[in-house]
Amino acid sequence: MLPLCDVLHITVNDLLSGARVSPINYQKKAEENMMNLMQENEENKKRMALCVICGVITIIAVCSLVVIASYIEMPTIARIALIAFSVATAAAGIGAAAALEAKAGHFECPHCKALFVPTMSEYVKGYRTFTKRKLRCPECGRSGMCKHRIIR
Ligand SMILES: [Zn+2]
Repeated sequence: MLPLCDVLHITVNDLLSGARVSPINYQKKAEENMMNLMQENEENKKRMALCVICGVITIIAVCSLVVIASYIEMPTIARIALIAFSVATAAAGIGAAAALEAKAGHFECPHCKALFVPTMSEYVKGYRTFTKRKLRCPECGRSGMCKHRIIR
């Protein structure tokens, strides 16, 4: 980032805030940028933690529902209802966890290094590994394995 700023004869903060900032405002703007970034990182960490909690609760809830449906004596209709309920719980839990994860932080394009938040449909469709996801970059239009970055 620094060499780029040298070439453009601007400061790092001008680059980050997307506008030239006069020296008087510089300190204030710099603090603002710093605060925004820290706040954003905090929120993203919280979202990621919520995502994990959400996933764990879903697994526990679904497992206990399945155990209850399998081992406890009850009429067939109640058993079917319970299984349907556990499937619905799993779907809702996975959906909520995915929504939280998609919005926690950014994905980094492997081609142009742009950071972006994918749309929900892009995110759900994408083939994934633990830390990367196949997404189309909105900046350069190419798709690739984008790295998930919680903080920046
Ligand atoms: Zn790109």
